[in-house]
Amino acid sequence: ADRGTDVVTFLASRRHAGVVALVDAATGRRVTFPELWRSVAGAAAALAAPPLSLRKGQVALILSPNSVHFPVAALAAMSLGAVITTANPLNTPAEIAKQVADARPAIAFTTRDLLPKLPRGAAGDGPLRVVLLESGARLPSDDPSSVVATIEEISATPPDPAARRSRDRVVTQDDPATLLYSSGTTGPSKGVVATHRSLIAMVQIIMTRFRLEGSDRTETFLCTVPMFHVYGLVAFATGLLGCGATVVVLSKYELPEMLRAINEYGVTYLPLVPPILVAMLAHPKTLPLGQLRKVLSGGAPLSKDLIEGFREKYPQVEILQGYGLTESTAIGASTDSAEESRRYGTAGLLSPNTEAKIVDPETGEALPVNRTGELWIRGPYVMKEYFKNTEATQATKTPDGWLKTGDLCYIDEDGYLFVVDRLKELIKYKGYQVPPAELEALLLTHPEIADVAVIPFPDREVGQFPMAYVVRKKGSNLSEREVMEFVAKQVAPYKKVRKVAFVTEIPKNASGKILRKDLIKLATSKL
Ligand code: ATP
Repeated sequence: ADRGTDVVTFLASRRHAGVVALVDAATGRRVTFPELWRSVAGAAAALAAPPLSLRKGQVALILSPNSVHFPVAALAAMSLGAVITTANPLNTPAEIAKQVADARPAIAFTTRDLLPKLPRGAAGDGPLRVVLLESGARLPSDDPSSVVATIEEISATPPDPAARRSRDRVVTQDDPATLLYSSGTTGPSKGVVATHRSLIAMVQIIMTRFRLEGSDRTETFLCTVPMFHVYGLVAFATGLLGCGATVVVLSKYELPEMLRAINEYGVTYLPLVPPILVAMLAHPKTLPLGQLRKVLSGGAPLSKDLIEGFREKYPQVEILQGYGLTESTAIGASTDSAEESRRYGTAGLLSPNTEAKIVDPETGEALPVNRTGELWIRGPYVMKEYFKNTEATQATKTPDGWLKTGDLCYIDEDGYLFVVDRLKELIKYKGYQVPPAELEALLLTHPEIADVAVIPFPDREVGQFPMAYVVRKKGSNLSEREVMEFVAKQVAPYKKVRKVAFVTEIPKNASGKILRKDLIKLATSKL
């Protein structure tokens, strides 16, 4: 009864003696599994004691680029029953202040560089206590008020098994573990609460679906996707807690750095986002990829051209695809490569232990196979709720546990999921619904179009009509008229593109999602 069922205790039962747990790709510094567990236990003891005094149920903020210290901080805090919230280091101080005001963390892990981005005195109760999350950090003499310790100091604290067994500390699987904020592509970013059960389920799903388990060989993961996002957090949790894999950490993505790490450390498994695949494919040379056998693409749709191009250029590497959202603790459906080669464009099969239905967004009725509607999913990894936001929770999760994904999808007769578009991004033309992703896919088949984004353009008469922002290929003189005619010939009249503008680049976020909000602003600023 003493033993908690937090994600760390539950999953990290194998000690993996002799295996390297973490590698800092920049310095080559290695941490073995026994060293990692000792650091996590030491950090947990220090976090529980004064002056940090982190208690179960309190929130701990991590504002940091990827580093080998990030997992130590996250796992130590979670093992105490504290809830991890993370912030994107690129966010502005105002954006971070907003998140801090919402999450009310008791402590924050951050780097010296990022310290000025933290608001002062905004903690849940009392001042925000800060732990510096970097190697060789010293307590700054100019800021004695909030910085209390460094990660190296607290990791070196002797573990205190009694601290974790004391009153109020036992963590069950239904306790919240993470409070991650959604990317905010379609609306304001919201705090998503996931439990220890969700994380445990997700780690097990990823190991099974991507065949990352097995005692005969150890995988080497490269973590270049951001650990502050559910994608990166689940990636390192799977490696460290689930597989006992070596996790090589890159603080920030750059192609040459990534390639160096892949080759130098024998990386076998690489979770990434579509823009990285684009860069690997666009490179004039066939890049040396060493032991790399699997890449996972997630976070945004992957085009058929990309999959085909990549498979041709790098036949030794399987492309896996994951579909999911922050609210599903990462992955709700996924492919493995054999399936993908048979059905391009699918986001794959539903995760194990997942129920799904496709619902007509207007009538709420469940639709049959091959009909497009909103995807609802139910499974152990679905979020508990939006943080302190009953209204948003009620709009997104039904009382019996269905998560409304906000994605327009269909499921074919064999159970493969196809993502058509995001419900919130549909263009409403005279009451008809036009999925911009469909028009984008069509426009990308034009030989002179390099990239494209379709947005709703407001119009008094028809409501909205599709407008296309087009990036022409080098040397192309494609005209607006030609673009419109190209589409008009191939779609129903209500889907016609009625306005075109040429740009040199389509704005996208880090995971490759088109920033439609920015384009809509650009288009309508001239009205
Ligand atoms: P917000 O909800 O605040 O607008 P967001 O939805 O962009 O933010 P995330 O949780 O990072 O934040 O993104 C989830 C969405 O990403 C999914 O709902 C889906 O639309 C899209 N997505 C993720 N993976 C895939 C995929 N493999 N194929 C197509 N779309 C995907």
